[in-house]
Parts: sequence; structure tokens; C-alpha cells
Amino acid sequence: MPTTLITNGTVVNADAAIRADVLVRDGRIVALGEPMDAGVADQVVDATGLLVLPGGVDAHTHLEYPVDGFSTHTADDFHTGTVSAACGGTTTVIDFVKKEPDRSLYDTYLRRRDVAAGKAVIDVGLHAIVPPRAAQPDVLDDLRRLVAEGATSWKFFMAYPGQMVADDELLDGFELARELDVLPMVHAENGHMVAREVRRLVERGRTAESFHLRAHGHDSEAEAVHRAVVLADTVGTPLYVVHVSSAAAADEISRARAAGSRVWGETCPQYLVVAYEDYADLGERAAAYVCSPPIRERANQAGLWRMLVTGALSTVATDHAGFCLHQPDDLPPQKMRSPGYFPKVPNGVPGVEDRLMVLWQAGVASGLIDPCRFVDLVATRPAKLFGLFPRKGTVAVGADADLVVWDPAADHVITAAGSHTRTDYNIYEGMRVTGRPVHVFSRGEHLVDGGGLRLDTPGRGTFLTRHLPYLG
Ligand SMILES: [Zn+2]
Repeated sequence: MPTTLITNGTVVNADAAIRADVLVRDGRIVALGEPMDAGVADQVVDATGLLVLPGGVDAHTHLEYPVDGFSTHTADDFHTGTVSAACGGTTTVIDFVKKEPDRSLYDTYLRRRDVAAGKAVIDVGLHAIVPPRAAQPDVLDDLRRLVAEGATSWKFFMAYPGQMVADDELLDGFELARELDVLPMVHAENGHMVAREVRRLVERGRTAESFHLRAHGHDSEAEAVHRAVVLADTVGTPLYVVHVSSAAAADEISRARAAGSRVWGETCPQYLVVAYEDYADLGERAAAYVCSPPIRERANQAGLWRMLVTGALSTVATDHAGFCLHQPDDLPPQKMRSPGYFPKVPNGVPGVEDRLMVLWQAGVASGLIDPCRFVDLVATRPAKLFGLFPRKGTVAVGADADLVVWDPAADHVITAAGSHTRTDYNIYEGMRVTGRPVHVFSRGEHLVDGGGLRLDTPGRGTFLTRHLPYLG
């Protein structure tokens, strides 16, 4: 692998931005600091006027991911999804393992690990999803064994019939997480409240796609966040709340943190910049925006931003779960499988390629957050919480050379046609952004050059056996 020198750039880490040259050898950063002689490297990248960021860590993706009782799956596999991620400046994704009906959680994890490693172009880790006890009575034994395989974070669903776990299962799972120093994660919506609302809407014939929002109230999210925090505090475990969409739910996290709870909240770009008003009148095509929790009213956004700026929300991930609007021949039924009937629309939106550009535009270019906070939200904090720091999430000697050379002045218009996901639409279509990746390196290999993919070798990504979380 050639030695690479990135020169004349400004290195941005979560704690500081400094002018520094970066020397990369054998996939790692081997020197950082004063200007270096170009002769030390085989390849020189001139980053004059540009920023050098740690590669993005997206801790929430769903690639070739089964939904609705395994009746369909997301459009991107570990190849197309990771190509899309890389083109947007993300060099690590952490996806999920959902127990398959005829396999234990442990066996499903090992199988999915091999699938991911065989296709990914960037590095991939997996969170374990804890199934209801009824689906696997000895699941706690599997969770114990999975820690050694790198699953140091476990997700619990508080919503979705068939996946949601009861409070006693949450308590048992949280207790084991505390014993093993694993970070539990929750999809926090009260599944009973949501199911009841879905039933009521269907009874009244209110089944159009846009009614999806009505079934997923702010209260059901805020209630579940509150309950999860109380249960986590009861057993003394830290807690991570995925995809916080409601300002009311973020408020619960803010209050809990102020009272001393160790809880971290994640939000996603779709909740920060897209709104219900953008899809309310699209008819069946509103299916493109259906995800859970839902993309909420525009009036909700200011509260979320406030929580992001003040630190109550700690990470920005995508929950990338793309489904096509036009049915491809080679995929199971996608977004339009039940036009006019929201309960059957597969939940999820794409975004793994857009995350950095959208957050930079809406957060940094707008002046709400600075570049260091941006790096913390998209790379450093997720790397710490999910056992990858300091190998990932920081530009430092000894770290993997996962680097993004970022042009803060580059203009770009986001479109589906210009993206690499298999999803055939983009919820940010037409958004004009200033700031985009121009070079992306993964463990020293030059994957993206000028926004285009330069190296596309399925399976070059490695599977990440993650360590215990770093909660400092
Ligand atoms: Zn998700």
C-alpha cells in the first residue's frame, strides 16, 4: 500500500482544529504535525484550504435488512450500502442483527458477520437486537457469548408487535448489560400506544400514507424514553436511545442527564431538516418518507436542534433503511406494495451518503455548531460509545487512516441520480449544500476521489470486533 501524505490541511478533531500534515503508512496514521517533506510519501494530497476529518462512523444502518416478519428487506446490500456510505465520507457503519426465525441470535450474528465482511467496501460492525424471550428463551446466554464476538451493544425494541420486549425483559437485559459493561440501546416508542392508534385510524378508514405520522405520537416516544431511562437507572446501566425524533422525547433525555443519568441520545438528519409538511400532500408517494419514529412536523425541529446544540443529543446517525419507490425485479416488495394503506408500508428512509453533507449544511454552514462538534456528532462520539475509539473516530497517530478531506466551500446539489444507494429516491432531493468530501480514505486506501468512487472491491472492508464502550 503506498505511503500517503496529506499536506497543508486543517485537521479537525472533536477537541480541536489544527493545521497539520498527516502521514499514512500501512493503513494507519504514523505521523501528524509540522509540515513534512513530500519525499517521505509515494502519494501527496494537497489539502490547501481543505479540512481533514476522521471518517464518519454511522452507528445506525440497516443494510440487506429483513423487515415485517422477513417478508421484505431493504434495497441496499452490504456492497451498495457501503459504497454509498464511502461516497458520503462515512468509513464505518454499525448495522444490526435480527434473529432469524430458524436460527439462534448467536448463529444469525455469525452468519451476518460473514455476509457483511464478504461484501463491504468499508469497515462494518454489528449491534445485536435482543428478541423477545418468547422467540428465544435462552437469549441471555447468547448475548453473553456475543460480547466476545464484538457485539458490545444490544438493541431492545419497545415498539413493533413481535419484536417489542416487555419491561421485565428490558430489566433483565439491562442488568446483564451492566454486568458485562455492554451499552444497551432502545428504540423508544410505546408499542401499545402506536398499535392502538393504528387500529383506530384503520377503523376510521384513515389509511393514507400520511396518516403514519398520526399513529406515532410524540407522547408514545417521550413515554418510552422516560420509562427506558428509569429502568436503566434502576439497574444502574448506561443507555443509548436511537433515532430520537420528537423534541418532547429529547427533553426527557435532557432532564435525565441533568439529574445524573448516563443516557445518550441519537438523532438523524431526516428529523432535523425534513418535515411532515414536505410529504403530507404527496398521496401514495408519501410512502417514500414513512419511517419510525416518523418525520415530524416542522415546528418540532427547533427543539431537536436545541438539544443537539446544548449536548442533550450526542450523535447523528442515519437509520439508513432504503426501499425503492419503483419496484425492481430482483427485490421483494418495496415502498409501493400496498398503496393507500400505511400500516403495510415498509418503514425506513435512505441517507447514509447524505448524512455529513446535510448536517454540515444545516448545522455548521448555518452557524449552529462548529466543525469540532460536527466531528464529535458524526464520528468521535459514536466511535467511543460503540467500542471503536481511538482506532476510529479521531485523527491521531496510531489510529486507522480513515480520513475525509473535506472542502467546506464546495457547492453540491443532492439528488437520487447522483447518489450511490440502490434506493431510487432521495428525501433531500434538490437540497443545495456547501461542503462535501473530496477524498475519502479507508485504512489508508484511497476510496473516493473528487466525489467519485475510485476503488470498489467488495469485501475489502473488515468486520469490526468491537471493544467495550468508552463512556467518558
Ligand atoms: Zn433503525
